[in-house]
Amino acid sequence: MKGFGRLLGSILEDDNMKTINKDKVIYAMSPDNKPVLYADPGTQIMFETEDALHGQIKSPDGGFDGLDWSRVNPATGPVYINDAMPGDVLSVKIESIEVAASGVVACGKGMGALGHKLEGSAIKIMAIEGDEAVFSDKIRLPLNKMIGVIGVAPKEGAIPCGAPDYHGGNMDCKEIREGATVLLPVNVPGALLAMGDLHAIMADGEIGITGLEVSGAVIATIDVIKGKDLPLPMILNEEHIMTLASDEDLDIAVEMAVANMVDYLTKNEGFTTHDAVMLISLACDVRICQVVDPKKTVRVELPRRILSKAK
Ligand code: CA
Repeated sequence: MKGFGRLLGSILEDDNMKTINKDKVIYAMSPDNKPVLYADPGTQIMFETEDALHGQIKSPDGGFDGLDWSRVNPATGPVYINDAMPGDVLSVKIESIEVAASGVVACGKGMGALGHKLEGSAIKIMAIEGDEAVFSDKIRLPLNKMIGVIGVAPKEGAIPCGAPDYHGGNMDCKEIREGATVLLPVNVPGALLAMGDLHAIMADGEIGITGLEVSGAVIATIDVIKGKDLPLPMILNEEHIMTLASDEDLDIAVEMAVANMVDYLTKNEGFTTHDAVMLISLACDVRICQVVDPKKTVRVELPRRILSKAK
């Protein structure tokens, strides 16, 4: 595919790294999905990924006419992680994200936060040049490459890859980027990890319904953590410990994400509930990941420097 010469050329696969081709996709996360790869904890895996529209939009003309919606939001996988058992925590360290040479952004009637006020639709194909993408003659935007969909099988049933929930999924959180570690619950043996829906650029909210949707590849190191009671999903990076929650109602998503952070602070850092609430009120930003998916996603960011001074 166009744009992938540099991608594949830039990633040297070694003996310890496994690759999952982007034709190995699922459209819902489910315990019934057959694994496409079995991997031991500690394995590095490269997930080649389609964009969220499965590469169907190649031109700004024609809108969404002819789009096969059943092929939207593919996730590459799933991977069965050996030794991952229900109750464990799956740790996914994002080592690198590579994106194709162009991406798609769109908005339109019935889509996103302002869909009820829009007529028709608009699609923009944006070239990606180095660390920037070209929005217009005058505007170039810096990339903030991130993973929109990352999740594991739920305990039961099937959750479409377009939806976020307790299993991860389409959280569309811009903090799921290079260097971050995503912690997910293991609900079924092997966890059945899958990911996709890379964005070359996205702002908190994702209000138009898309980021800069791109195909690409992610290299991640997968591990299993035993015996840890954590309010999942969570994201860790050098600056923050983050809790996330998703609900149809943004107010409820806020409450859930904050409750998760209180849970983390009381169970893992020795805070009383009242101290935890006061600390979050003073020092932890509550941010909106996205408001356009079937459930809205909120994150709470705890600065690590606070904890390092407390110890
Ligand atoms: Ca998404």
